Amino acid sequence: MIGAPVRRQGPTEGETLMDLSRPGRRSWSLPDLDVPPTEVPTEFALEDVPGLPEVSELDLVRHYTRLSQLNYGVDTGVYPLGSCTMKYNPKVAEVTAALPGFQRLHPLQPDHTAQGALELLWVLEQALCEITGMARATLQPPAGACGEETGLLIMRAHHTKRGNPRRKVVIPDSAHGTNPASVRLAGYETVHVPSDARGMVDVSELEKLVDEDVAGLMLTNPNTLGLFEEEIEETARIVHGVGGLLYYDGANLNAILGRCRPGDMGFDIVHINTHKTFATPHGGGGPGAGPVGVTDELARFLPSPMIERDAGSGTFRLEHDRPDSIGRVHGFNGNFAVLVRAYTYVFLHGADGLKALAERAVLNANYLATLVQGTFPPAFEDGRPMHEFVVTAEPLKQRTGVRVMDVAKRLIDLGYHPSTVYFPLIVEEAMMIEPTETETRETLDGFAAALLQAAKEAGSDPELLHQAPVSTPVRRLDEVRAARQLKLHW
Ligand SMILES: *Cc1c(COP(=O)(O)O)cnc(C)c1O
Repeated sequence: MIGAPVRRQGPTEGETLMDLSRPGRRSWSLPDLDVPPTEVPTEFALEDVPGLPEVSELDLVRHYTRLSQLNYGVDTGVYPLGSCTMKYNPKVAEVTAALPGFQRLHPLQPDHTAQGALELLWVLEQALCEITGMARATLQPPAGACGEETGLLIMRAHHTKRGNPRRKVVIPDSAHGTNPASVRLAGYETVHVPSDARGMVDVSELEKLVDEDVAGLMLTNPNTLGLFEEEIEETARIVHGVGGLLYYDGANLNAILGRCRPGDMGFDIVHINTHKTFATPHGGGGPGAGPVGVTDELARFLPSPMIERDAGSGTFRLEHDRPDSIGRVHGFNGNFAVLVRAYTYVFLHGADGLKALAERAVLNANYLATLVQGTFPPAFEDGRPMHEFVVTAEPLKQRTGVRVMDVAKRLIDLGYHPSTVYFPLIVEEAMMIEPTETETRETLDGFAAALLQAAKEAGSDPELLHQAPVSTPVRRLDEVRAARQLKLHW
């Protein structure tokens, strides 16, 4: 025998970093203490020191690098999650966000020492207003969901000022889950308006629903089925007719950038998910930004402070003296570094570039929808989708017993991140696909081929699909249990 048996480097299957631990091995070295040591007060001292793995620095680096390679991100492959807009985030936005002048800024610095940052925020506000057709915008909210709450509080402030906050907010039955949650947080009741046979707001039903107790309507356009609400002007007329306001959930703004504007459609309040429409890696729970734009009439209710420019000197300052403001919705100026990324993205593309990317997002979605429609028919037949589309796997389920969840899990084996499934709730066996504008035709072809292969296997080997994924370190997870039985430590 020549030498010892070959041992794979690092942990083998089933082993953890703990298994590599050797007493006394260290991955850090600290300089000698140059101050007298102090005792940790007993109430702060751990009774039971957790057994941390003792490994070398290199073992530690390899451990985390290996783990990172088990992960799937938009930098490793297409991430076609409908509604979430997982597009490529240009690296230049990371560079600008990390510029020392931005990174080392302290949020409590006096205004005159942070003129560049204030100017950037001010210019971004102008750009977002131009893109959405609004008069002023706050950059404070740290996510779309918080933007919704902010917008609804502005809606409430507007009605309260007129003597009656009203009680109800109308949202379509296809709406994103954050919409009814925000309605509730703002102290309103949700009233659902049904979708018609084409997947759009049923205008005649809306007409019956609205009365003087309706504070407003929340709408996504294109809606969560990826369809453009063709009767948006009529919808606006109905809601405005009873003194209600129109709220635009901007999660799908990337489909219409530079083509049309929520303000021109009749919306009064708009949020933008800058991490979806522009550039910021997301999916791990943040950070993001959800700026809210409003009409001139509603501007006085926006959160404080607002950034103002002194007309004479051209200097920028934070204006806190705003008596009608709903107050703060986040610390300081929101997630500043995320806003730097949005600024970079907007001005990197320019007006023509933003328009072109919206067109490409729509083209990619339509191309992909066409490739898969024979097996995965669109949830609503007439009407071309915009930047995303919803198909139904109900026919496949009828034929093979395989559910859309099984198809999604099988995509992982085939090398692709699954699309959103079971949303919107009004579509049986829904799969919602958003390829985004940044993918090439070859990538779209590859994803379509994987979807069609999974459907084929559903016919020939349904058991395989029930068990998928079969090639990953972790097999099918019980997603409900993970949410119901939290295990935060062991
Ligand atoms: C993503 C999304 C939201 C919520 O936005 P966050 O930035 O994740 O809080 C709201 N509505 C729709 C339609 C969305 O897709």
